[in-house]
Amino acid sequence: MDYELPEELRMLKETLRRFVDREIIPIERDAYEGHQLKPEVRVSLENKAKDLGLWMFDVPEEYGGMGMNLLARCVVWEEMGRTIAIPTRGGHIFGPSVSPILYFLNDEQKEKYLHPVLKGEKKCAFAQTEPDAGGDPGGMRSTAVRDGDHYVINGNKRFITGADKADFFQLQAATDRSKGSRGGISTFLIDAGTPGLELVRYQQMMMDDRPWEISMQDVRVPVENMIGEEGEGFKFGQAWITAGRMRHAARGIGVAERCMEMAGSYTNQRETFGKKLSERQAVQFAMVDAWMDTKMLRLLVYNVAARADAGEDIRYESYMAKIKGDEHAFKVCDQTMQVHGGIGLTTDLPIEKMWRDSRSMVITEGPPEILRMVIARAFYREYGD
Ligand SMILES: Cc1cc2nc3c(=O)[nH]c(=O)nc-3n(C[C@H](O)[C@H](O)[C@H](O)COP(=O)(O)OP(=O)(O)OC[C@H]3O[C@@H](n4cnc5c(N)ncnc54)[C@H](O)[C@@H]3O)c2cc1C
Repeated sequence: MDYELPEELRMLKETLRRFVDREIIPIERDAYEGHQLKPEVRVSLENKAKDLGLWMFDVPEEYGGMGMNLLARCVVWEEMGRTIAIPTRGGHIFGPSVSPILYFLNDEQKEKYLHPVLKGEKKCAFAQTEPDAGGDPGGMRSTAVRDGDHYVINGNKRFITGADKADFFQLQAATDRSKGSRGGISTFLIDAGTPGLELVRYQQMMMDDRPWEISMQDVRVPVENMIGEEGEGFKFGQAWITAGRMRHAARGIGVAERCMEMAGSYTNQRETFGKKLSERQAVQFAMVDAWMDTKMLRLLVYNVAARADAGEDIRYESYMAKIKGDEHAFKVCDQTMQVHGGIGLTTDLPIEKMWRDSRSMVITEGPPEILRMVIARAFYREYGD
């Protein structure tokens, strides 16, 4: 049994650590204009990502990417999690953002939708969440009704990231509401600008994201734009979300690492009542707990990722990793803010942004209560007799 990363991934990790320390952290607090990464910063970071040889690291080789396995991707997400310059959701700097759902398309659909995304010519958004159905997409109210060689879609979507920049949507709607997520949801490719599909407004958030509300009124979509078969829509959403959960977890390690670097260094200098903060047991215990839990999180993430790469089903463990990663990251951010006192609340330091981003990550792509509810089923199968 090997608890260490293979040599090539250790080297990758070191390279990324140097890249983030030298090239990104020095500019991270000035990297944004309002809520968006400055275009010139994005171009410069993308060029550096190419120089590092990491362009499209998460795209399978057959589509021109590097086809990195999940463990390697976790190493990248972990190291990039140490800086606030990289957008927390979507729009990363290592190439076009390719939704894994697009790999399920048939050849004709791939030609029209996947290949242009890979070439950077088109962008897509994923539209599942609705005002009345987020964590429980089975309750979605948008419907798609067959009418000859088209489906007619009606309903509303909420919190759709990148909807304003999308050339097309992977949009889910109920083809049979009585079946919910068990065969009642289908996914469609819908071009932006299709009559009846309107962007209603974007949502101001405490983070940089500006997701959109969308309305669909009698949107006619050709039957050939369905992904897979009718009722298979939920399956494709899940394919995206499993890798996404591991990204949350791995990012959490990076956030915790950066926070410990800041908190360790600050508490070892700052004095109150004639002593360094690092000499106070209350502070020491908080630091040690952060360190122990980060080590445990890293073992969990690497183990689950390696098992996925070996072909094992990691569904429940990926849920556990997401819960642990997001909750740990937020806890360590909060603790780091606390030991910094007032300076921790300023925008001079990255802590407040990491804190806001990490809080939001606990909710998106599966809140912990819903994940625990699903894990409970596995628990009682294992221990319930
Ligand atoms: C910035 C941002 C970007 C997003 N981008 C997208 C996107 O691109 N596409 C997309 O489709 N969606 C997107 N979403 C939606 C996101 O995935 C949902 O917000 C998330 O799944 C939670 O759904 P909800 O907000 O409806 O919460 P709900 O499902 O209503 O849950 C509310 C709260 O209730 C609690 N809860 C829920 N169920 C249970 C239970 N069974 N037991 C105990 N407690 C429970 C949890 O604490 C949960 O946080 C985005 C959201 C945000 C904030």
